[in-house]
Amino acid sequence: MSDTISAVWKAVEEDRDYVVGLTRDIVRIPSVNPKFQADPAINREADVQTRLAGELEALGFGVDRWDVFPDRPNLTGEWAGSDERSLILCGHVDVVPVGDQSKWNCDPFGGDIKDGRIWGRGAIDMKAGVAACVAAARAVRKAGVKLDGRLAIHTVVDEEAGGFGAMDLVKRSRLAKSAIIAEPTWGNIVPAEGGLTWVRVTIFGKQAHAGWRFNSIWPQPHVEGRLTPGVNAIELATRFLMALRDFETSRCRANWHPLVPAGLATINPGVIRGGAGMGPDGTPAIMTNAAIIPDIVTIDLDYKFMPQEKFEDVKAEFENFIHHFAASDAWMRDHPPAIEWDLFGLNFPPMNTPVDAPIVQSLNRRATQAQAKAPVIKGFEAVTDAAHYAGAGVVPVIYGPAGDGFHGDNECVEIDSLIETTKVIAAAIIDTCGTA
Ligand SMILES: [Zn+2]
Repeated sequence: MSDTISAVWKAVEEDRDYVVGLTRDIVRIPSVNPKFQADPAINREADVQTRLAGELEALGFGVDRWDVFPDRPNLTGEWAGSDERSLILCGHVDVVPVGDQSKWNCDPFGGDIKDGRIWGRGAIDMKAGVAACVAAARAVRKAGVKLDGRLAIHTVVDEEAGGFGAMDLVKRSRLAKSAIIAEPTWGNIVPAEGGLTWVRVTIFGKQAHAGWRFNSIWPQPHVEGRLTPGVNAIELATRFLMALRDFETSRCRANWHPLVPAGLATINPGVIRGGAGMGPDGTPAIMTNAAIIPDIVTIDLDYKFMPQEKFEDVKAEFENFIHHFAASDAWMRDHPPAIEWDLFGLNFPPMNTPVDAPIVQSLNRRATQAQAKAPVIKGFEAVTDAAHYAGAGVVPVIYGPAGDGFHGDNECVEIDSLIETTKVIAAAIIDTCGTA
């Protein structure tokens, strides 16, 4: 190991209390995402950012801050350097709600230390990761290392409710060649995750009186003045869901990636609404009257795709499936289902960073040296802000500490793992940015 890395790791060890103290301090500032639970007393992302901005300024970072939503700011800090060897460290400052507080054995916003762990909402997801990024830069500075490449630290809002903080940041900020997202990975290296979008499929029928349903099932010989048959959109939707399940299965069988579980390309029907008449918001206007043959069904899908798939191909394949499904029915041929992609703006591009990318290799080598438990290189089943960096052309990888209870009760981060994470990220800064 080089003298530079040894010096930086010594700085991390001598400065253990800093990363532990910063983690505890920001756990004590409740920053629950207001989209889950709106209450100004606990929606304090801005106060976390103010605290972090102070730390970054003290370390000589050039700081920028702007509101993504009212009083919900993103924060960036940057040390100048070459673009060629530039690196971003990123974390989110929002947390999910506490949930049932009676299940917690500690104050969810206490930041207590017990059993070698820091306890509280956001401890592992992901205030410890954010603190490790800041502490890693501080160790580099303390060891007197001058970097060649530009180093940036990004702390973003709103990861837990769609990643709109990171989505906004990648549109407006200078980016870098590679990025480490310090979400909890239990010391493992995560270079791949699938893409995700939400899709609304709207199925159209023909509204009619339910008393004349017989005329829909056994249409009567046409006579002048007789009712034309209704078409029940709920029944069409049932057929659609059966066909969708087969399509999903065939996609899962046809697409695989070595780092993620087989069958990850799922299409989850998450919300379904059926009724009569199209409302102004694109959902059925009447949903309380069973005496109507319904003409509108909307089905909202959580549509996942594989790390190696391109969104344009995914779209084309699904639209082709819908086209063929509709072509099998005389009514739907003339009244095909409508497809709305990126419902509510939700779209996570896939991340497919190669295992031999320098940033992955650096983290793997340094984690092997620094951690009690050897790292594994693996994919991630859900989505993170890494997606938005990947979509903007950055080479991201996810790496962070070990803990427990994320999105559950009794959330905590292991302090030894937090120190290891700080060391590994500090070494990855040196490897990636180089020394001037
Ligand atoms: Zn997280």
